[in-house]
This record gives sequence, structure tokens and C-alpha cells, in this order.
Amino acid sequence: MSTTQTGSPYIVAQNVRKSFGNHEVLKGVSTVFRTGEVTVIIGASGSGKSTLLRAINRLEPHDSGSITIGGTEVTDDEATLLKQRSEVGMVFQQFNLFGHMSVLDNVTLAPRRIHKLPRAQANEKAMTLLKRVGMEAHAHKYPWQLSGGQQQRVAIARALAMEPKVMLFDEPTSALDPEMVQEVLDVMRQLAKAGMTMIVVTHEMGFAREVADRVMFFDQGCIAYDAPPAEFFNNPANDRIRAFIGRMS
Ligand code: ADP
Ligand code: MG
Repeated sequence: MSTTQTGSPYIVAQNVRKSFGNHEVLKGVSTVFRTGEVTVIIGASGSGKSTLLRAINRLEPHDSGSITIGGTEVTDDEATLLKQRSEVGMVFQQFNLFGHMSVLDNVTLAPRRIHKLPRAQANEKAMTLLKRVGMEAHAHKYPWQLSGGQQQRVAIARALAMEPKVMLFDEPTSALDPEMVQEVLDVMRQLAKAGMTMIVVTHEMGFAREVADRVMFFDQGCIAYDAPPAEFFNNPANDRIRAFIGRMS
């Protein structure tokens, strides 16, 4: 378990609902993510995990209910959204690096454009972050020259370059060859140890047991169980969860 003390509520979801057509994929989700807390979200494919993460940074607007980040509601207000998006880092399953840019440029782009950092300062900061994810020797390469695990570590450095207050990870290791999964989980583990607030959708049960402060089980658009890992894994709330854990472990 993470050793950091968790603090005050940072992201608060209240009765969040979202439908695609007549398919309701979030059925009134309410929860609080606290500063310094590492939450792992698990659950079957299609249960609404990605939709919740996407609603938090407004990649997918919710229909009703509310989400607040640091007390400010997530809406379509452009200025607020820009500020919130720089506070919320996101790492996707499919790395999403800019293919025509070097590793260094991928990491410096947003700080230069959005935080208006001068190039030299942005480069220096990027190199520090690339070192942190073990990629400083590859700064001048292009994404196509890197393995999936290396690309994902760069994607993490890129997100960190905006100095986010929370990092959202949506199945960050699901697209990787098995031998590359650990190098990415190691970076995430370090980040958790350093006190980062994290919400991680993953099927990596070992990571959940070891790193999470709490594990949340999504089932058909609802949070079906939410407990510290010891309790979650040793005493699953019901047979559906027990069966799911069994399949994943
Ligand atoms: P999970 O991440 O848990 O696998 P998602 O949140 O991606 O689940 O999806 C929940 C449900 O919503 C799925 O049935 C999915 O097909 C549907 N869905 C997600 N995004 C869209 C979209 N943009 N348009 C239509 N249906 C969508
Ligand atoms: Mg998903």
C-alpha cells in the first residue's frame, strides 16, 4: 500500500450519469478522490471505467450530476477547462505520442505552448522528467524508434511536464508486450511513492494489491465495491467480484 497520507477531497463526483443513445453507461456514480490517494479501478470491459476518466477531464461530457476538481465544477467553460486539463494528466492505452516529433519535443510541447516556458527551460525540465522515467538517453529519438514500453514511459513524462495535481491512467499497460509491462508499472509505482494523486484503470492485480490505497470495482455503470486492497482481495463483496479477481489473477 502507498505510504503517503491521503488528504483532502480533490475530485468529487456526485451522481454522475452518462448515456450513449439509450445505453446508460454511468448510472449515478458518486465518489471522492483525495489528494495523495492512489485509486485502482477494475471491472469488466464496457462497465464505464474509461467513460468516468474521460468525464473527469471533459473528453466526454456527462449528462447530469456534477464533477468538481479542487472545488471547481467541470463544465464547458474554456478558461476553466484549460486550467483543469493542465492539472489533470492523462495517460492512455495507446500512448498517443506525436509521431512526427522527437521524444524531447513531445515532452516540451505543452509546457512551451500552454505554460509559455522558454525552450531552454522546457528542455531542462523535460530532461529531468525523462531521467525519472529512464528515457533520457532517447530524448532525440522519434516514437517509431522506441518500444511500446519506452513510448508509454515518454507519455508519462509528457503528462508530468504540465505539473499535474492528479494523473489518470487508462489501462496504460494493456497494449504492451508482456515483457514491457513491469517497466511502466515501476514508473507508476515510483510516482505513487512520491505522493502523486492517481486514478488507475488496470487489470494488473499485483499493482492494485501493492500500490493502491483503494480498489474500486465497476459493474455496469456503478461502483459495486470500493475498499482498501487487503479487504478488497481477501474479502470480495460478492461472487461476481470474486470471479472477476479469479480471472485476472
Ligand atoms: P470500459 O472502459 O469499462 O471498458 P467504457 O467506459 O469505454 O467502458 O464504455 C462503456 C460503454 O459505453 C460501452 O458499452 C461502450 O461501448 C460505450 N461507449 C463508450 N464510448 C462511446 C461512444 N463514444 N459512443 C457510443 N458508445 C460508447
Ligand atoms: Mg476502457
